[in-house]
Amino acid sequence: MSFNCQRANLKKPDSITKALVSTAFQDHISKQLELDSLVNLNFKKPISRNKICKLDAKSKVDSGLSKNIVKKKTFNDEKEYVLTKATAADLPTLAEKLGLVGIDDSRKQIGETEWNEIKIKYKNRQEFKEPCVICKEPLGINQQVLLSCTHTFHRNCLEMFEKHSGKKACPMCRKERYKARVVYDASRYHKNVSASKIQAAWRGYLVRKWYKNYRKMVPPKNPILRKKFFEEKLSDITNRLIQSFNYDADNLLEDIEKNLKKSRETFKNFDERYRHISEEEWSSLLTKVINRNHDECSICMNKYNLPCSIFDLEKCLDQNEAKPIVLLSCSHLFHSVCLNTFEELNLDKINVCPECRSAYRKREISTFFNKN
Ligand SMILES: [Zn+2]
Ligand SMILES: [Zn+2]
Ligand SMILES: [Zn+2]
Ligand SMILES: [Zn+2]
Repeated sequence: MSFNCQRANLKKPDSITKALVSTAFQDHISKQLELDSLVNLNFKKPISRNKICKLDAKSKVDSGLSKNIVKKKTFNDEKEYVLTKATAADLPTLAEKLGLVGIDDSRKQIGETEWNEIKIKYKNRQEFKEPCVICKEPLGINQQVLLSCTHTFHRNCLEMFEKHSGKKACPMCRKERYKARVVYDASRYHKNVSASKIQAAWRGYLVRKWYKNYRKMVPPKNPILRKKFFEEKLSDITNRLIQSFNYDADNLLEDIEKNLKKSRETFKNFDERYRHISEEEWSSLLTKVINRNHDECSICMNKYNLPCSIFDLEKCLDQNEAKPIVLLSCSHLFHSVCLNTFEELNLDKINVCPECRSAYRKREISTFFNKN
């Protein structure tokens, strides 16, 4: 006690009554030791908001008394304000007022200049980018408080921490009777980061879209990709062409089938009718016919004398003189007269073999003998 008195430049103790001095010291010590039960003064009641505003005219104070003011505040309204609830412990004691002891630093109100210094310190450490040390979640857009010890937490986390620990002290540095201020640095940082992410995603989407279109317009240099590019282009054009026609697929396919069949037949007939057949081929055809040993004209169903071999041709030629025989390129034999009659009766433009229905070239058997 005597030590405190000496430090505080005691003001003329003679002029103050002993009772006042002892009361002032009792009050001061009990407040220092937080012995609220011993203090029976009006300070126990929360002091009015007006009084606090007078004490700290520069800072906006949330005394916790006016619920309407708290309700009006939203996350979008990024106005910083001092949060600390003023209690009896925050006011100077009678002993301090009388100058019996020096004023405790922790009881001093913090002005804007001091707050700016605190903010510079905490911003240098970039703590608003780190997660809240109480809940380990990012500070994000949740309400954030900055303490006068330059540490920052979620407002809710700090309140819960104090509720459970039962005393008002910074969870990190244990500083008691700190001042707290609601700040929005983490919220602003979080919004910036989120906006950047959204912008990056959107820009990525645009670039990818542009690149896809670019790839459709400009052929790549790689030969494999280039081939693929042109194939896709061609199939695109074909698809668009097909889509632009309104057609019946079955009918179209049927038509195609018919046309193909016709053209195939035409080509086949064309080939057979105008194909040059050499002497050797004719001879082999005749041999084939003789070997088959079919000695009946399929048109008149009458027999003709077939030679035993190509060398017997001369003998049988005389026997068949009345009704000469004709050999077709399809290797079928008929009476010349029968075939001529058959051809006359044919309504088609092209004559076909009565047996195998293929176009043919014909040659009379007698010509073989003459040539030979
Ligand atoms: Zn937290
Ligand atoms: Zn701290
Ligand atoms: Zn015949
Ligand atoms: Zn035939």
